[in-house]
Amino acid sequence: MNLLHYALWLGILAFPTVSPAQSHAHQHGLLRLDIAVEARKLTLQMESPLDNLVGFERAPRNDAERKRVEAALAKLKAAGVFTIDPAAQCSPAKVTLTSAVLKLGTSQPAAANHNHADLDASFEFECQDATRATFVDVGLFDSFAGMQQIEVQVAAPKGQFKRTLKRPARRVALTR
Ligand SMILES: [Zn+2]
Repeated sequence: MNLLHYALWLGILAFPTVSPAQSHAHQHGLLRLDIAVEARKLTLQMESPLDNLVGFERAPRNDAERKRVEAALAKLKAAGVFTIDPAAQCSPAKVTLTSAVLKLGTSQPAAANHNHADLDASFEFECQDATRATFVDVGLFDSFAGMQQIEVQVAAPKGQFKRTLKRPARRVALTR
């Protein structure tokens, strides 16, 4: 499947349910990831349709669904979701999860939508020298079967650029 076909296929799937206000980011199977590299800090900001992580986009309605949510949140908080080039000597400092329908964090009610819901997450790492990192390995495809593609934006002292990661690839190069 070439890129154009893939885009059309995604568009056809998404068209009946995606509202114009959020069509920029909310596509099932797709995840946005912003990586910011600073001197002693590396931050990964993730924006995902909740469907990618738990298979539904509303508050859990029974114990089985509550367990799915708990398992997904545990996977996101676990070490190994992101592995940073050891050259930068980073260690995890803080994980923040935000989702209106799951009542996590401080998401604005205005962002709520009756058909769709997101989960946003931020992962902060403290590093000896984050600029020495040449890659980040992303373990999300291993943990979440519904995830197909990750649109990555990197902002580093050397510049900004974009990458697309498709299942089963896991490595994001931080150098051009
Ligand atoms: Zn959705």
